[in-house]
Amino acid sequence: MPIGTTREGPPASPGFAEGERVPQYSEMLMRFLVVVFSGLVGAGGGEDQPVRTDLPYALYCDIASSDCQQRIYDSLAVMLDAEGFEMPGIRTISVVDDACEVSSGVDLENLTGEDAESRGLRLMGFIPETSESVVAARIEYWINRVSAYYWRGSHVITIIDRDYDEIDAQVLLAHELIHAIQNSQFVLNEVSADADTDDGLIAVRSVIEGDAEHNAFAWAYELLGYEPDSIDWDALHDDSQATLREHAADPERALIDSAASFPYAYGFDYMTEVITTPGLPGRAAAFEAPPRTVFEVVTGPRSLPPSFDFPQVAHPSPLEGHSVEIESRFGAWYLYGVLRQLGLSHDAAWATMLGWRGDELAVYQSGDDVVAVWRVRFEDGSDGVTLEAEINGGEAAEARAAVLFGDEVFVFAAESQDSLLAWVEQPLDSMTASIVPKAARHRGGAVTPGNCMKVSGISLTTRTRLRHTSTYSAFVERTPASPMPWGQ
Ligand SMILES: [Zn+2]
Repeated sequence: MPIGTTREGPPASPGFAEGERVPQYSEMLMRFLVVVFSGLVGAGGGEDQPVRTDLPYALYCDIASSDCQQRIYDSLAVMLDAEGFEMPGIRTISVVDDACEVSSGVDLENLTGEDAESRGLRLMGFIPETSESVVAARIEYWINRVSAYYWRGSHVITIIDRDYDEIDAQVLLAHELIHAIQNSQFVLNEVSADADTDDGLIAVRSVIEGDAEHNAFAWAYELLGYEPDSIDWDALHDDSQATLREHAADPERALIDSAASFPYAYGFDYMTEVITTPGLPGRAAAFEAPPRTVFEVVTGPRSLPPSFDFPQVAHPSPLEGHSVEIESRFGAWYLYGVLRQLGLSHDAAWATMLGWRGDELAVYQSGDDVVAVWRVRFEDGSDGVTLEAEINGGEAAEARAAVLFGDEVFVFAAESQDSLLAWVEQPLDSMTASIVPKAARHRGGAVTPGNCMKVSGISLTTRTRLRHTSTYSAFVERTPASPMPWGQ
């Protein structure tokens, strides 16, 4: 997995998980249902609440029961023209067991924040200064924010037993079942096979998550009796995108977290556009040839991608003794986020982002010294001037410096002024990008859920309804600084 990976939680191999944040589906759905269900809205789940008998069965049934699971799966398979595939296994585990599974696979060496990846990304402002490490940030995200995931290798869905309202629980299961259907139809490992940068991974996930998001909503609306053309998709997208942009602009939040949530907002928008007009054939085409960059996701499926001509010679000549530890293209969303965190308005940051024509970030290490260099190419030099001015005029100027070089900007970030000055004076454009063979590149995401003493294989809860887990609030409160990508 590339550095600074935005995949939530457990890693690419041997299995692969699609982690989902704590859902707010009913809230989003209900915003458009107040007329229909006025007087009933707010009668959410929880053991003290009566079951919503006005809802269709599949939107209130107990998602731990096989009858409910089968009913939801069958209706999704019909909707997606995917009948005849094997239904995935489904297990429900407690928050405590989930935390145990995640923690048992963690390499404690990676939690100190002293690794080159964490230090480099912190210098560049991609993770907050207060964060411990990239791995710790991912673990926090996984334990506190993820509700469910689908594991490709085993074809099993895991639902983490948080206190879901009805509709939330069923749409969450529908979302995961759609991932299982995607895997049966398109083989997700092949869909994402070419994504070997952070940018590429977010772009592919935009198809995978955007499709699950769109179709889970479409499924719920259909059950509620809505005609397809009466759904205000733009309002749903605007909602999630506005929240995401706010989070990207907040210096207290990790950019890697808003990047992790990008597919649920902009990928959702992208796939709605694909699915509502060309329909299922367009959906299949998107999985066969997913966008390769976040830039293509934000400009939409009907925009022709510009030609990218990023140089092979991607970095300045390193100071003697320094070697590249990690490198990756981070893409347009990180550019947008960096500009917002430096105080630029949404409009100005968005316009500059649309001038993006490639980037490459490298983290160098020599002994105790870590330096990060981010090379960003623009269509037009004036966008580069904007990035240069924001970096050099920003509050973090003492640790970072930007150098304009034609229509490109080199952003240097070092741990001391001396080191920064030495690097800025290095000749630019004189070192090959891929001095680290791809196969040998550092791979992040060491969070592998291994075997855990508290878990004995796959078990399905027999409780009639998912209930509140008392330890959940303790986990959330333990890390109040941890960003919530979708608001509380
Ligand atoms: Zn998903």
